[in-house]
Amino acid sequence: MKVENGMQIEQRFISINKFSRPGVLLEGVRGIVVHWVDGAGQSAQNVVDYFEILGKQGQLAPYESFASAHFVVGLYGEILQCIPENEMAYHVGASAYTTIARKKLGSYPNNSTLGIEFCHPDRTGVFRAETLCAAAWLIRALLGRYKLAYGDIYRHFDITGKICPKYFAENEDAWREFLHQCRAIENSGE
Ligand SMILES: [Zn+2]
Repeated sequence: MKVENGMQIEQRFISINKFSRPGVLLEGVRGIVVHWVDGAGQSAQNVVDYFEILGKQGQLAPYESFASAHFVVGLYGEILQCIPENEMAYHVGASAYTTIARKKLGSYPNNSTLGIEFCHPDRTGVFRAETLCAAAWLIRALLGRYKLAYGDIYRHFDITGKICPKYFAENEDAWREFLHQCRAIENSGE
């Protein structure tokens, strides 16, 4: 377990595999991308287990599904890390990207971003206070570590137009409020 300024990150790395942990090094960290897990009531461990199971898809699967993220923040503020920060995860891949994403993150943003999944209790996608609080701490620490600014925090929505995280994509005010929450955290000194 890593403890950073009171915040605990539990590392439970998934196996290296083609579908969720390709083992490819990131070209750098130029942004942090926020997602919702899109599964009502799922725990952070459920999400990590899902990424692990994705890695076991066989050649005969009817379709192949690629997905993962570096961190998952749970319903009670627990933080699991399932992919090392220097490796690529599959969280923002798309056939087309927004202009701002291409300009700031390059032609393949999976190469240059860290992904964080937020758990949520129901289909509205509204997050619990504990989840937002822990996520804000995590983001603040990552911004410090990689010398990033608040403008480098993205919704998945900002990069591909996907409605993710649903609540923040549909409620600009709630997203701004969360960014303020991140900003309000004192510099952890990293
Ligand atoms: Zn997403």
